[in-house]
Amino acid sequence: MRRPVVAGNWKMNGTVAEATAIVRGLLAALDGAPTAEVWVCPPTVWLTTVGSLLGDGPVRLGAQDVFWAEKGAFTGQTSPAMLKEAGVGACIVGHSETRGRFGKLEVLDTSLGFFAETDETVGLKVRSLLAVGLTPVVCVGETIVEREAGQTDSVIEGQIRGALGGLSPESVGSLIVAYEPVWAIGTGRTCDAAEAERVCGAIRGVLGSLAGTQQAESTRILYGGSVKADNASELFAQLNIDGGLVGGASLDPVGFAQIVLSAQ
Ligand code: PEP
Repeated sequence: MRRPVVAGNWKMNGTVAEATAIVRGLLAALDGAPTAEVWVCPPTVWLTTVGSLLGDGPVRLGAQDVFWAEKGAFTGQTSPAMLKEAGVGACIVGHSETRGRFGKLEVLDTSLGFFAETDETVGLKVRSLLAVGLTPVVCVGETIVEREAGQTDSVIEGQIRGALGGLSPESVGSLIVAYEPVWAIGTGRTCDAAEAERVCGAIRGVLGSLAGTQQAESTRILYGGSVKADNASELFAQLNIDGGLVGGASLDPVGFAQIVLSAQ
C-alpha cells in the first residue's frame, strides 16, 4: 500500500512574511495530520525559516533543487548535506524549469530539454540525495511538440532510464517520480485523468523493468501540471497516481489543504 504524497513547489515566490502566512494558513486549514504525506518546497533562502514554522508537525520540508557535489567551487549551489542540515527531507530534481529554462533568457517550447540539466545530471542529483538519506522527487514529462509527435512514452522512458538506470532496486522503490507534462505546468491545461493514469502506469512499467515489479509497486508516482482543488480528486483516484506535485495552487494555503485532503 503506497501512502499518498502531495508536495507544494513554491518556485521563486514569497517574501518571508508571505512564506510565514502560507505555512500558518496551511497548518490551520489541515487541522491535524492528513492521510497523505505533505511537503512544502519553499525557495532555498526560506528553508530554515519555514522549517522552524513547520516544527515536528504534519507538513514536511522539501527543497526545489540540489547540486550533486559534496562541496567546492560551485557558486550559487546547495549540496545534499546542506539541505539535510537545514531540515529538508525531500528534494525535487529534473523539474522542466531546471531541465530546460536555465541558461537562456527566452526559450521556445520546442527547445525545452535541449540544454541545461540533462538526464545524466538528474541522475547525479538523485544519487547524491539518496547518499545522504534524502528522498528525490524526480520529474519527467514531455513537451507539447513531443506529445503531438507521438513521442510521449519514449521521451519519458528515456528520461527514467537516463536518470535512474543502475540504481539499486531498493533505491528505485524509495524515491518519488512526478509525471509533469511540460505543456500542463503553469498553463491551467491539466492532463486528462485517464491519460495521466495511462502515462503513470507506463512509468511504473519502466520502473519495473529497471528494479523489478515488487520495488516498482512501492515507488510513489505523482501527477503535476495545473493541479487545483477542483481537479485533484479525479486525478488522485487513479490507480497509478499516488498524489500530486503542485505549483501555483500550493501558494494558496486553503486551496492547497483541499488538494491534500483529496489524496486519501
Ligand atoms: C510544478 O511547478 O511542478 C507545477 C506542476 O506547477 P503548476 O501546478 O503551477 O502547473
